[in-house]
Amino acid sequence: MHGFPEATRRSRTREAMGAAAGADALWWPDASICPSPNQDARPNGLEPELIVIHAIRLPPGQFGGRFIEQLFTNSLNPLEHPFFEEIADLRVSAHALIGRDGLATQFVSFDRRAWHAGASCWNGRERCNDFSIGIELEGCDERAFTDEQYSALVRLIRWLRERFPRLAAEDAIAGHSDIAPGRKTDPGPHFNWHRLWAGLAEESGT
Ligand SMILES: [Zn+2]
Repeated sequence: MHGFPEATRRSRTREAMGAAAGADALWWPDASICPSPNQDARPNGLEPELIVIHAIRLPPGQFGGRFIEQLFTNSLNPLEHPFFEEIADLRVSAHALIGRDGLATQFVSFDRRAWHAGASCWNGRERCNDFSIGIELEGCDERAFTDEQYSALVRLIRWLRERFPRLAAEDAIAGHSDIAPGRKTDPGPHFNWHRLWAGLAEESGT
């Protein structure tokens, strides 16, 4: 995946997606766009009411590279790593990914349904993909997340709350492990919830 210089790629895709997705498309201006085919309409016109925080790294034990983007665009090469053979046929996505450097990539417009939560339950409601926004942090259970990631996450959540007021509710942010307990462990023990809450409170001036 050699592609275009970042700025060129960004403006080309943004233009194309704006035209294709219509006025309702919601793209965070600070993110690069990398459209995923793994998405569809939210059922019954549901609005996002929940933000699900995930952590992912590919392959296991490594940061960097374009493998997460490739997973979410069904272009992972199963020959590049033994683990990729197991997951190359998955059809998954998240709305956004925040890399270790704090740079964000968006795969699915926030008003659409991304395929990130799987079997899940939040406040007694199943199928969390229907009404949630999935944000992946590049990370794992063994390592702390970076300052840049917390900063970008806070900025993104503030931006989302301005557009979807229900996301400002106290219980509107959960970890993948909270909605799929026993099945998922991300974002893991190193995700600092206190730091996220403090950052959101500080940034919003409350
Ligand atoms: Zn997850």
